[in-house]
Amino acid sequence: MKRQTTIASLLLLGSISVFAGPVTTTPWNGHPGAVSYTYDDARVSQLPNLLPQLDSLKIKATFEIAAAVGNFTSRVSDWIQVSKNGHELANHTRNHINITDANSAATVKDFADYLRALDTTVQSVTFAYPNCSIPGTTGKNGVSAENFIGRGCGQTTYAWGTQPTDWMNIQGLILSPTNTNTSVTLQATAKTSNAWFITIVHDVANPTPDQYSVTPANNLVMLNAGISNGLWIDTYLNVGAYYRAHFTMDTATAKAVSGGWNLAWVSPHSKMPKKVNLRVKFAAATFGTSFTVQQNGVTIPVETDGSYIIDFMKLSMKVLQGTSGIKSRVILPSKLDARITSNGIMFDGVFGEVEATVVDVRGNRVFHGRVSNRMVSLRKEQMRGILFLTLSDRASRTSVHARVTAIR
Ligand SMILES: [Zn+2]
Repeated sequence: MKRQTTIASLLLLGSISVFAGPVTTTPWNGHPGAVSYTYDDARVSQLPNLLPQLDSLKIKATFEIAAAVGNFTSRVSDWIQVSKNGHELANHTRNHINITDANSAATVKDFADYLRALDTTVQSVTFAYPNCSIPGTTGKNGVSAENFIGRGCGQTTYAWGTQPTDWMNIQGLILSPTNTNTSVTLQATAKTSNAWFITIVHDVANPTPDQYSVTPANNLVMLNAGISNGLWIDTYLNVGAYYRAHFTMDTATAKAVSGGWNLAWVSPHSKMPKKVNLRVKFAAATFGTSFTVQQNGVTIPVETDGSYIIDFMKLSMKVLQGTSGIKSRVILPSKLDARITSNGIMFDGVFGEVEATVVDVRGNRVFHGRVSNRMVSLRKEQMRGILFLTLSDRASRTSVHARVTAIR
């Protein structure tokens, strides 16, 4: 134990960037870089023009909401559905007013309380400064009281290994009708420099109504650049939380106990999201190659790349020596996200082995059996028209369904 401490101290004396803790977070959830697309002010064009684009590409975006502008108030139930579908509704103040040192705390809390009361899926723990107006320290503290991150404006991209100097001013690039190509260039840069890039757009409409808007065609070019660069495309909340959490996770220490190790850490901010899934790897130098990872007594299954997806917000985990023989517990999501690929049906949010059944519209069984790796392999001739996928876990007696449409 004493020797381990000495080695750890020596390593800490070196450059922080080369210090590898016993647990290492996989950068950007396993992608070469990340991008978050943010859209402001609940502009009228967003529900009809933008949402279908995002949903057809399975892209989750962030919507900076101010109740007094756009169509948020008149179409609030549609906007709540947007949140239920996995997009983020974030705080942009009720009346779209500049944040100052004097008004910050009350203004930010007022609309955070309003948004959180709409639906349990609205966490409201990220903020976007109206009119790109960034206050002084007191104003930022007001934002920080309700949010773990605040969106300013600028062209900064954020490198994986460098802790940002100011979490209350993590910038997005404002796009205009003539500079959408910059977003394509900077997404390529995000890939080559392992960085996070954020965009800001008002309307997605043709013609573009102002200098902060793009046409649907150009928006699609931007989204496709994220896909073709293999970036992690997710909300400002999800990428920001993963990014912020990893600086804590990667410096966590493992305390040796009988039969294994305990790891515990402290949340870096009081308004982190309720759940932050981190893809992490465990150093063989500390844990060997035969171990079992548990959080709150539940065994976490190993992924195909040797990583484990843990919930950072549980703030602790156990690593037990040896494989446990405990069967991985399958936890099914409340809503199943599934899509057709050339090899079958892929689904998200389920880890471990589950029982899968696929039937066609006439109720004929196309597939039945146990599957893993979030994939039901099907032959081309089995994938016609509309298919219904059911995943079941016998141990917990739960099941979840999804409807998928095969490409003809
Ligand atoms: Zn705005």
